Amino acid sequence: MNVPDDAKTVDCKPMCTLPLLALLTAYGSEKTTGSDHSDGKTFFNRPPVQVSLWQVLKWQFSRDRHPWPDSIPVKPTSPDLSVASGIRATWVGHATVLVQTPGSNLLTDPVWSRRIGPWSGTGPARFARPGVEFTDLPRIDAVLVSHDHYDHLDLPTLKRLAKERTDLAIAPLGTAELLKKAGFAKVVALDWWESTILPNGDTVTLVPAVHHGLRWPWDRNTRLWGGFVISSKAGRIYFAGDTGEGAHFDEIGLRFGPFELALLPIGAYLPRWFMHSQHIGPQEAISAAKRLGAKTSLAIHWGTFRLADDGVREAPDTLKSLLANDPLAPDFRVIEIGEHLDLGVASLKREIGQTSFRSDRVKEMAAP
Ligand code: ZN
Ligand code: ZN
Repeated sequence: MNVPDDAKTVDCKPMCTLPLLALLTAYGSEKTTGSDHSDGKTFFNRPPVQVSLWQVLKWQFSRDRHPWPDSIPVKPTSPDLSVASGIRATWVGHATVLVQTPGSNLLTDPVWSRRIGPWSGTGPARFARPGVEFTDLPRIDAVLVSHDHYDHLDLPTLKRLAKERTDLAIAPLGTAELLKKAGFAKVVALDWWESTILPNGDTVTLVPAVHHGLRWPWDRNTRLWGGFVISSKAGRIYFAGDTGEGAHFDEIGLRFGPFELALLPIGAYLPRWFMHSQHIGPQEAISAAKRLGAKTSLAIHWGTFRLADDGVREAPDTLKSLLANDPLAPDFRVIEIGEHLDLGVASLKREIGQTSFRSDRVKEMAAP
């Protein structure tokens, strides 16, 4: 769990390719609900998305990795306890965002581990330390987990969160067993378009994404994937999770738009011929922002783990240049790890001299 000041450079080792090769093993053992995106055992995209062994091998043998530095400097921030109005999004790195709305602190796809893999010390290493020290996290009301990939569902981090910060995890169907094992007392597993209500009255809805699930070769697509819509007093927020391009952006925009804020992935997008079915890139992210009706968007899923062929700042640099040349460019922000975006935040509550977490004290201080 401890990340050294300068995270080491570790290239994508064979563990990284395990999930890719396992894309071809299409069987599962976990029961799922029957629906238009499930056959009762596994889930699938609507319309179906195929990734062939040939494509996986072609990518592996033709990789053109653009440069990353040895490590990325990060200035960790100590977040405020809560916001009394508006929305604050603090980027911890990759898809981990602390989303604060009045009366609620949510954490998306939390990953504090130094490496993301099936066993400790395996899988891709982080190049940038988390933008918030774990011990500096405020009270968390719920953890939102978009899917079961190791860079989004990190069991060591989830175990620590369940022990020290929150008893509630919200995730797609099929993930309940993993999350209960991680120690969460309350696990809400949702199908696409299903919702749950948080204690402060905010609603969290799981929405479709174009992606897949996999932790082991034998559990491919036995857990659903998705994004989340948070409907709060301060407006609606969309967190895309991992997703390829698709009509779901239009449908989510129609059902829930406009959004005050959309958290959209832009990285791990090259080469396009291979990645397009699972990860949008800058161009698709801009299109998504428009179709969702996002008043403001924030770029995530870049600059932390080296999962594809794009260079460390290739996605945000491309995004900025596309925006500069788009006469209808949406408000789409790029911030650094550890920085935050405020939308209508008027007042804050900060714990002075916060060195360790005391839930009783935090609850008291966070009370309106
Ligand atoms: Zn994924
Ligand atoms: Zn991802």
